[in-house]
Amino acid sequence: MQILAIVVSLAVAAVGIALFGKTIGHIVSVIKLGQPVSRTDKPGQRSATLAKETLGHTRMLQWSHIGVLHWFVAFGFIGLFLTLVTAFGQLFNAHYALPIIGHWFVFEWATEFLTWTGLVSIVGLIVIRLLNLPKGHLARYSRFFGSRAWQAYYVEYTILGVLVCILLLRGLEYELGAGSKFHFPTTFFFGTALFGGLSEQALENTVYLVAMIKILISFAWMITISLNATMGVAWHRFTAWPNIWFKRKADGGTSLGALQPIMIKGEPIDFENIEELDEDAALGVGKVEDFTWKGLLDFTTCTECGRCQSQCPAWNTDKPLSPKLIMMNLREHAYAKAPYLLASSDDERQSLPDLVKAEQERPLVGSPDVAVIDEEALWACTSCGACVQQCPVDIEHVDAIMDMRRYQVLIESSFPSELNGLFKGLENKGNPWNMNPSGRMDWAKGLPFEVKQVGTDVETLAEVEYLFWVGCAGAFEDRAKKTTQAVAELLNIAGVSFAVLGDGETCTGDPARRAGNEFVFQQLAMQNAEVFKETGAKKVVSTCAHCFNTLKNEYSQLGVELDVIHHTQLLNRLVREGKLTPVAPTDSALNGQKITYHDPCYLGRHNQVYDAPRELLDIIPGAEFAEMPRNQTKSFCCGAGGARMWMEEKVGTRINLNRTTEAVETGADKIATGCPFCRVMLSDGLTAKQADGSAREEVEVADVAQLLLASVKRG
Ligand code: SF4
Ligand code: SF4
Repeated sequence: MQILAIVVSLAVAAVGIALFGKTIGHIVSVIKLGQPVSRTDKPGQRSATLAKETLGHTRMLQWSHIGVLHWFVAFGFIGLFLTLVTAFGQLFNAHYALPIIGHWFVFEWATEFLTWTGLVSIVGLIVIRLLNLPKGHLARYSRFFGSRAWQAYYVEYTILGVLVCILLLRGLEYELGAGSKFHFPTTFFFGTALFGGLSEQALENTVYLVAMIKILISFAWMITISLNATMGVAWHRFTAWPNIWFKRKADGGTSLGALQPIMIKGEPIDFENIEELDEDAALGVGKVEDFTWKGLLDFTTCTECGRCQSQCPAWNTDKPLSPKLIMMNLREHAYAKAPYLLASSDDERQSLPDLVKAEQERPLVGSPDVAVIDEEALWACTSCGACVQQCPVDIEHVDAIMDMRRYQVLIESSFPSELNGLFKGLENKGNPWNMNPSGRMDWAKGLPFEVKQVGTDVETLAEVEYLFWVGCAGAFEDRAKKTTQAVAELLNIAGVSFAVLGDGETCTGDPARRAGNEFVFQQLAMQNAEVFKETGAKKVVSTCAHCFNTLKNEYSQLGVELDVIHHTQLLNRLVREGKLTPVAPTDSALNGQKITYHDPCYLGRHNQVYDAPRELLDIIPGAEFAEMPRNQTKSFCCGAGGARMWMEEKVGTRINLNRTTEAVETGADKIATGCPFCRVMLSDGLTAKQADGSAREEVEVADVAQLLLASVKRG
C-alpha cells in the first residue's frame, strides 16, 4: 500500500506541478499581449489596499453572509497548505509531523479551526449555489446564468474532499498516539469512533491511503485548472491579488468616476496635435490585443460569480448585455486567439489549427452570430457602474465597454443612428438638444433677483464665491430648469454669491465621451477649459450629476483643477450653517407626505455622495422619508447614463419604468432625485404609470432642491 501510495502521489504531483508552471507562463504571456498602461504609482498604498480588501474581504462583504463563508474558504486554502506538506511526509512515515510546529498545540488548533470553518463554509456556498441555480422561465435572473456550472462544482467539491481528508488524517494521527485529546480537541472523537480498535499496521495503511487521496484530489485540481487557463473560478485564487493591486485607484476606490483618455503606447493622445498620430493607430479597442494588459488580467480573473450581472440594469430589463458575459466572452476569445498572436513566424501561424485561425478572423464587435461581443449589448450599457461596484475582484468593466465604443465610433463609424442627432447638436450648438446657445439664460427670466453672468455683470469669477454650472439640461430642459431656478433662489436666500457663464457655457462633453466620441468630448472640454482659465474658475457648483462627475474628475486630464461640489452637498452645508431654515409646512404640499430618493449613478456610485441629499430630505419638517429597496451602492439606474438618454430602448422592458415602479411601490408622494437626467427618465416613467393607472395622479418627481425650497420659503 505504502509503495503504491508513494509512486502514484509523486507521479501525479510531478505532472501537476509541471503543467501548472507551464500554464502560469502561458497566462503571463497572454496578459503581456495587452497594451502598456502604468499602474505602479503609490506602491505602499496599493499594498495597503490589497491587504484591506483581502484580509477584510471588504468587497465580498457587500454580500455579507457569502463574504463571511468565502473568507473562511479563502483563508483555509492558504492556512491549510502545510497539511499538504504533512500528507507527503505521511506517505513515507505514517507518524510524520512537521518539524518544530507539527505537535505545537497552536498549529494543531488552528488547523482544526480552519478545517471545520472551511467545511461548514464550503457546504454553505454549495447550498447557496444550488438554491440559486438558473431555473425555469426566471433562469435569466439567477446570477449564475451563463456561468460554467461544472467548473464551480468541481472547485467546490475539491475543497470539500480535501477538508474531509484533513479531518480523517487528524483522527488517524490521534489513534496512532500522536498526542492527547488536548492536541486533537475536535477530531479525537471520530478518530476513535471510525478507527478505534484497528491495529497499528491497519492504521498506518489507512494513513497512506488517505494521504494519497488528499494529494490526488489536490493535484487533480492543479492538472484540471492547468488544462483550462480560462477557468476563472479556480484561477482567481492567484490572479485576484495582482488584479486588486493594479486597479485604477491606488487608494482602494472603485474604478469609477473618470473615464481614462484614449492611450497609445501607454500615453494619452494629444488631441491638440492629432495630425501627428500614426494612421493605423488604434483609437479605442478594435481587437482583443488593443486592450491594456490590465484589461486582459481582468478577463482572466473573472470568477463568473455573477454579482455584476445581478445588478446590471440592462440585464435586468432583458437586454443582451451582461457584464459577466462580456468578461467571459473576451477571456475565451483572448485565450483562443493567443496562439496566433504569440506565434513567432508566418509558418508557425499557418500551421495552427483552423479553430485558432477562425478565432483570429472574428470581429470583436458586431452581429452576435459572428462577433465576440454583440453590438446590441455594447450599446445597451448605461455606464451606471453597478458591475464595477459589485465585483469582488475589482474588474473594470466600464473601461472595457467604453474603449470598444470608442473604436466603433471613431474608426468604424458604427453606432446607433440616434446618436447622429446628439453628435450634431454637440458639435454645432454645444448642447445635446441642438438648441441655440443664446437661450442659455432663459431659465433666469422672471426670477425675483438678478443672476450675475460672467462677462456681463462680473468681470471674472474672483468677484463671487461660486461658478454656478447650469448645464445643458438645466438651461434647456423645462423640468430641469425648475431645479436650476430653485438652486439659484436658495443660494440667493442663503446669501451665497455666485455667477453663471450664460452662453459662455458649453456641454461638458459627458454624453459624447460615454457614447465613444472622444473627439467631440475633447473639443467641448478644451473649449470649456479655455473659458475656465480666462474667468478664473475655481469653486464650481453643479446640479447635474454628469456635469459634476466630468468637471470634478475628468477636466484635470486637460490641466484644469476645479473644486466641484454638487448642489445637494452645498445646500446641506448651508442648512447646517443655519443659512437656510426648512420649516414645518402648515398647508404646503409637503405636509405629511412621503418622499423617496433615487440615487443618480454619477453622484452615488461614481462619486460616493449618498448622505447629503438624504440628510436634506430627512430634515424637511412634516415629511416622511422612505428608502427604496435598491439604494445607495445597490441603487438601480434610471436608464439615462452612457448616452442612453439619446438612444431608443428597443429591446426588453424599459429601465426607467422598472425604477419608477420601485419608487411608486414605496407609497411615496414625491420621488426626489439630484440629477436632471434621472428626473426626466423618472418623470417619463411616472407619466406612463399614471396613464395605465398603476401610479396615483398626485405623485410627482422633483429635485431635492425644489423640495427644500418649498420648505424654506414657508419661513
Ligand atoms: S455599467 Fe451598468 S449597464 Fe453597464 S454593464 Fe455595468 S451594470 Fe450593466
Ligand atoms: S466580473 Fe466580477 S462580479 Fe462579474 S462575474 Fe466576474 S468576478 Fe463576478
